[in-house]
Amino acid sequence: MKRYHIFGPVSSRRLGRSLGIDLVPFKTCTYNCGYCECGATTYRTTRREIFFPVTEIYTELTDFLSSSPSLDYITFSGSGEPTLSLSIGEVIRFLKDNYPSYRVAVLTNGSLLSDPDVRRDLLPADVVLPTLSTTVKQTFVKIHRPDPGISLEGILTGLVQFRQEYSGEIWLEVFIIPGINTSDEELAGLRRIIKDINPNRIQLNTLDRPGTEKWVLPANQMELDRIQRMLDIATLEIVESYPSRTQKSSYAEDPVEQIYEMLKRRPCTAGDLASATGLHTLEVKKILREMAATHDLLVKREKRGLFYYFRE
Ligand code: SF4
Repeated sequence: MKRYHIFGPVSSRRLGRSLGIDLVPFKTCTYNCGYCECGATTYRTTRREIFFPVTEIYTELTDFLSSSPSLDYITFSGSGEPTLSLSIGEVIRFLKDNYPSYRVAVLTNGSLLSDPDVRRDLLPADVVLPTLSTTVKQTFVKIHRPDPGISLEGILTGLVQFRQEYSGEIWLEVFIIPGINTSDEELAGLRRIIKDINPNRIQLNTLDRPGTEKWVLPANQMELDRIQRMLDIATLEIVESYPSRTQKSSYAEDPVEQIYEMLKRRPCTAGDLASATGLHTLEVKKILREMAATHDLLVKREKRGLFYYFRE
């Protein structure tokens, strides 16, 4: 079956073996982050909509989950902000009612958590992973380039309120950009608000794939260690570089299709693709060569190696 709304399973650095659900059209987001691995936002908005009929998503999920695949998480993510979808609450409930053995995660930029309807929609999820990279307005605008309808104060209040209402786990991502949100003042502000949000885990992350803007550089291990010491919070961890974490891969049903779907959403190395599909790297490279002959496959060299991607 051709899949339009679900993708993977992929080997996620933060969630292990994860089946992705994409509820919004490509690069529909409240932000246009300088570090976005999916490229520039094409539709920046704060308006929540039903982008696709939920029956399409249910059909794909039912088809895929009928073989009871081994997954660590089913994750709302993809190439935009999933809480912009008015269907997210309904789809989470569908999963919890029909496939209760799977854990459900939501990767969100957190920008709509000031909206009580969004907070209510996320309540049945097992884990919510919002991003917060600064408490300084100027830095917030530089990093995320938000829609004018978004306020940093609203996000901070929304995160604290969500913690009070939500009994699942909150894993807060702090995205580090050297020289942008790494000063003592920045870190002191983050430390204060993290105490108020009280997440179960705090995950320090940094650029791991090609981003959108040249001023976004990855933080090195020494910088991440320094920030970890400065923030001094027991539940803080540094997200490992992909794919050093050992993942149990299984052979993809249709590896060519899976590779195509992954590269449409974000740049990946041949190693990333091998880890997600269970194929040998040489087999992945062969598929990439064949794809390059018929598609506009782009390649970019970064610290971690050659990244392959499509731009639609
Ligand atoms: S990184 Fe996430 S929040 Fe930022 S523009 Fe990309 S999809 Fe949106």
